[in-house]
Amino acid sequence: HHHVLFATRQGVEAVIDTGHYHPEAILWQRLADYRAEGGYALLADCHAGRVTVEALMQVLETANLRGLGGAGFPTFKKWTFVRQETGPRYCAINADEGEPGTFKDRVYLERSPHRFLEGALVSAWAVEAEALYIYLRDEYPGLHRVLREAVAELEAAGLVTPGYIVLRRGAGAYICGEESAMIESLEGKPGKPRHRPPFVAQKGLFDRPTLVNNVETVYWIPLIWEKGADWFAGQGRHGRVGLRSFSVSGRVKHPGVHLAPAGITLEELIEEYCGGMAEGHRLAAYLPGGASGGILPASKANVPLDFDTLQAHGCFIGSAAVIVLSDRDDLRGVATNLLAFFADESCGQCTPCRVGTEKMLTLLESDEWDAATLTRLSQVMMDASICGLGQAAPNPVLGMLKDFRGELAAQNVIIKG
Ligand code: SF4
Repeated sequence: HHHVLFATRQGVEAVIDTGHYHPEAILWQRLADYRAEGGYALLADCHAGRVTVEALMQVLETANLRGLGGAGFPTFKKWTFVRQETGPRYCAINADEGEPGTFKDRVYLERSPHRFLEGALVSAWAVEAEALYIYLRDEYPGLHRVLREAVAELEAAGLVTPGYIVLRRGAGAYICGEESAMIESLEGKPGKPRHRPPFVAQKGLFDRPTLVNNVETVYWIPLIWEKGADWFAGQGRHGRVGLRSFSVSGRVKHPGVHLAPAGITLEELIEEYCGGMAEGHRLAAYLPGGASGGILPASKANVPLDFDTLQAHGCFIGSAAVIVLSDRDDLRGVATNLLAFFADESCGQCTPCRVGTEKMLTLLESDEWDAATLTRLSQVMMDASICGLGQAAPNPVLGMLKDFRGELAAQNVIIKG
């Protein structure tokens, strides 16, 4: 149990109370089964010098593997930046998965923790990391047990030096999914995002160069190596490249994690992967990237969903958490719910976010929305907030002012200006 360390923001009660499913019920692939299907061959080849970092980076570049935590930064480039810095270096995996509507990392960790661990160990090897930290979401207590046991299997099999993998558990703060806040939390401090530069690739964990990757990003590495870069790169749609794990929730027949081509549109995703809309619901709106990725109307269900494609609409895909809303949903309720979430989760260290989210919530609770004030406040928050939370918080509101005036009027919200 010496690997189990609790972050410091909340008490132990919170940790115990958050278990909402039975940890014992998780059936995960054990080490022997994973190895029987060729698992850990890549890691062994890396350590034995049969695979070079350059060769692996070339494959990841060709596959166009990008950061699937939400930023979409090319993985091989991140490795390059960290490798340029003088050691010692660290690797930290972000398993915080706090974006509302996102649950893909959980699914991969529950099914195949060893494939994830192999990808994580290969990433740590690629930057010659002194240690591999895994920062796990507090609300996944069952997964903490799974990872602890999987790491113990690895240590017992002599595949990893005991103590090299350090499991850390968050304390339920959304902001700790932001990489620099996660690092603060890993260091035992309150999770407050850092100013950049320096970037965590230069000065991260314990002020050392740190590679921070998302769970799903590293999960794909052994598979891409095994099946080839062209296999992964060959799967996009509408000119996009690769696969994306869409966490779909809301008014569809089959919500869940759907692995689909990057660039698929919402209407295709709903029809081909989700069994259509739920009975009695007509598509009205959707959030393409969880709470922070903005909101789009049904008329834009034909936009390719991927990094870089939604900017023109003031949205982003982030971790591909698609929340589908119907004509029976209360849009003002959606806006106030999101802003209440951001106000609650703001770390409070900068004024535009701390005060701005609360001020915006108050403005939205009124029956008369003042568009000019909301727009100016949004601009200040986007321009002056330190991190993505404050910068993205106005997205849903701006989207509603732009595309949903008719719907809001029908729900008795008067928009001034
Ligand atoms: Fe904290 Fe919000 Fe500022 Fe980010 S934008 S540092 S969450 S107060």
